[in-house]
Amino acid sequence: MKRIHNFNAGPAALPLEVLQEVQSELLDYQGEGLSVMEMSHRSATFDSIIRGAESLMKEVMGIPDGYRVLFMQGGATLQFAAVPLNLLGETDTADYVNTGSWSTKAIKEAQKLGKNVRVVASSEEEGFTYIPTEIPVNEDAAYLHITSNNTIFGTQYANYPDTGNVPLICDMSSDINCRPIDVSQFDLIYAGAQKNMGPSGVTIVIIREEWLDKSPKNLPTMLSYNIIGGKGSMYNTPPTFGIYMIKKVLEWMKARGGLQAIEQINREKAELLYNAIDATEFYRGTVKADSRSIMNVTFRLPSEELEKQFIAEAARHDIIGVKGHRSVGGIRASIYNAVPLESVKVLVSFMNEFERTHG
Ligand SMILES: *Cc1c(COP(=O)(O)O)cnc(C)c1O
Repeated sequence: MKRIHNFNAGPAALPLEVLQEVQSELLDYQGEGLSVMEMSHRSATFDSIIRGAESLMKEVMGIPDGYRVLFMQGGATLQFAAVPLNLLGETDTADYVNTGSWSTKAIKEAQKLGKNVRVVASSEEEGFTYIPTEIPVNEDAAYLHITSNNTIFGTQYANYPDTGNVPLICDMSSDINCRPIDVSQFDLIYAGAQKNMGPSGVTIVIIREEWLDKSPKNLPTMLSYNIIGGKGSMYNTPPTFGIYMIKKVLEWMKARGGLQAIEQINREKAELLYNAIDATEFYRGTVKADSRSIMNVTFRLPSEELEKQFIAEAARHDIIGVKGHRSVGGIRASIYNAVPLESVKVLVSFMNEFERTHG
């Protein structure tokens, strides 16, 4: 069996142990004689899978009472619309922090829906190379929206802003469960599964229970937190196989020692890469040191020509997914939870070798 060193940004690496377990259960799920893909979402078996995924999410992430975990579809991108549609009344204003392409898209989507949006902080004028530390909190804002990890630019909040009474909403698509967080700081967290949680096709929404009452009655059913939450994420057929895999990934996180242990490994992986970048002039990090992401490590080489060569030669070493996002170029290694330390070590020695031969 061949397993490549997978640095894809998303969909991304999944834990080998999870894939193996899924493989072993594919034809015959726990003696039922069928796969999870083939069973009714109304069956007792699937019910225990989806409720199990919810409760494991609460357990692993330390979600306090008073929150609900929803599984939705449409990716994080549909949440760019769902959040303002559910939580912003006609006269309300929402504050957004713009730290990259995904924040920009969230802002544009809310504006497109005719909502009042204020961009209260932004790092756009410096090419999204840092996370703003001065984030004004306006008491009249319906919520403040942030993007915890900027997948394309390689920045991540070290600390979340203290918003006092103003609800904090976070797109956590690319760093959910990469480290322990205090969920009670947030009123709503959403994340597409395909970076740290499972396959694409499921979006996790963690929402303070009382917000479920805010959804306007005339919203399309599939966008309404009230309806999806009220039906236990089973108003219609949910993405059953993806939810099953999320449950497996959460079990894997638990078996690794939970988020504290996972953070430690993530920091070790990130440090290896950033040390390799900082050790030479050949490689150049693209973001300010205090804003560096432990999930997406971005850097440049002395020329675009060398970057092209780097990507091509990496592939010959079974290293894939290191091409920077098409909007920014350069190199990006996404080192989500499931990327083994061993793969990062292989990448670092390839980087050293490449510099020796091309530097
Ligand atoms: C990948 C990503 C998205 C887009 O997710 P989709 O599930 O493809 O809609 C949004 N925000 C962030 C931070 C991301 O990393």
